[in-house]
Amino acid sequence: MKKNNQALPVVKNEYYHMTIDDLGIHGEGIGKINGYTLFVDGALPGEKVKVKVIKTKKNYGYGKLIEIVKPSEHRRDPVCPIAKRCGGCQIQHLSYKAQLAYKRKKIVDLLERIGGMKDVVVNETIGMDDPYYYRNKVQFPVGEAMDGGIDIGFYAMRSHQIVTTDTCYIQQPVNGTIIETIKAHMLTYGIPPYSEHRHQGLVRHIVTRISHHTNEIMVGIVINGHKLPHEEELVTSLQQIEQVSGIYVSMNKEKTNVIMGKTIRMLWGQETITDYIGAIAFRISPLSFYQVNPIQTEKLYNMVLAYADLTGEEVVWDAYCGIGTISLFLAKHCKKVLGVEIVPEAIQDAKENARLSGITNAEFHVGKAERVITEQFQDGVKADVIVVDPPRKGCDKELLDTIIAMEPKRVVYVSCDPGTMARDVRVLCDGGYAVREVQGVDMFPHTVHTETICLLKNSKSSDYLYIDN
Ligand code: SAH
Repeated sequence: MKKNNQALPVVKNEYYHMTIDDLGIHGEGIGKINGYTLFVDGALPGEKVKVKVIKTKKNYGYGKLIEIVKPSEHRRDPVCPIAKRCGGCQIQHLSYKAQLAYKRKKIVDLLERIGGMKDVVVNETIGMDDPYYYRNKVQFPVGEAMDGGIDIGFYAMRSHQIVTTDTCYIQQPVNGTIIETIKAHMLTYGIPPYSEHRHQGLVRHIVTRISHHTNEIMVGIVINGHKLPHEEELVTSLQQIEQVSGIYVSMNKEKTNVIMGKTIRMLWGQETITDYIGAIAFRISPLSFYQVNPIQTEKLYNMVLAYADLTGEEVVWDAYCGIGTISLFLAKHCKKVLGVEIVPEAIQDAKENARLSGITNAEFHVGKAERVITEQFQDGVKADVIVVDPPRKGCDKELLDTIIAMEPKRVVYVSCDPGTMARDVRVLCDGGYAVREVQGVDMFPHTVHTETICLLKNSKSSDYLYIDN
């Protein structure tokens, strides 16, 4: 036993009874034994459980859930038989109502812990009526099975071990047929799956994206090479699946966790699928970002529109605009919208989408949001409202500084990581903004993730004074 463990109130490999008090940001149960914190995967707040201590550190340790002595009233049997092992859904064993409450609390806690903000108005999380089969995009890892066969499924929790499945309750059932078709092709022609460990083999991932409104499906095969053997035969097999409208390979020969390669090559069909958000049609290329939950996306964008509070006179920046979804959603409510995005293919899509919808007051720029908006500001371009929707790492400090210098009346911060949002919102608040309201939208039911929108107002702007809530 390690020296510093001797004084701990728990002993490794021993069994204990304990009560779970909280649910951590990764969905793990948290409780204390004689003041010592233990993290217990699979346990829920309010539960009395028996655990085996499996790892101890100075200030906290990990327990394995052995028995639930008294279950939580919010405990549910997961619909998915592999929910416990699969890393995709972390909280399927929690009632949906409690999931929504958990996500709200997560936002409140992070705003306080990271942003140092107390008493912020955080509304009830907007949930789904039917929180299953919602994802429009899936990325299945392909790997070597223990018996030498092919494993296709999802990564297990905190690992790259593949848990095989052909049914996933948060994705579209047709994916099962797509996986089976590609697997059969690999077996017929002896095409090896990729081994991360040896950086050998060919097929790394299968990526599908389905349009919620038109049902078109784009199928991508990510390979550690340039060509897939017998590509024509694979195309013929996949064409049997009625909705498939495009098939591509993505070349990714890097030793990396990034799934898609930088280039794609169409094997067959259309280069984009089309989906609708509200009345606006969006063409989506394989390399462009598109929100994964189409039903919740519309609710999210309606909240952005409400928070932007446009009169028709405003100039709006949409930073991190992807294929221009938020920009085009706002365009008819403002004088001009400017979008900026780092992926050139996404900006091509954005321009095409504006053209298709006959929107002429949207202008799109390729580049880093922090650079482009700063340079435009130096050239005298000022916005009345700025929407930011950054990736998980949040906004670059340069962008936050430019926003503070530009002094738009409102900033609408859309985030898929409330932790980095809290950090950035703190910077904006220190620069003269105040948080008016925060809203969680559940884009990812059964997972611990949440989308969050935060409305900030410039305390110097005149309309700040008229707000009485
Ligand atoms: N608002 C869009 C996309 C949000 S996802 C939507 O709702 O669909 C975040 C986007 O930011 C991605 O498209 C990503 O490519 C882009 N991105 C990442 N870093 C960036 C940066 N520094 N500047 C501009 N765009 C960036």
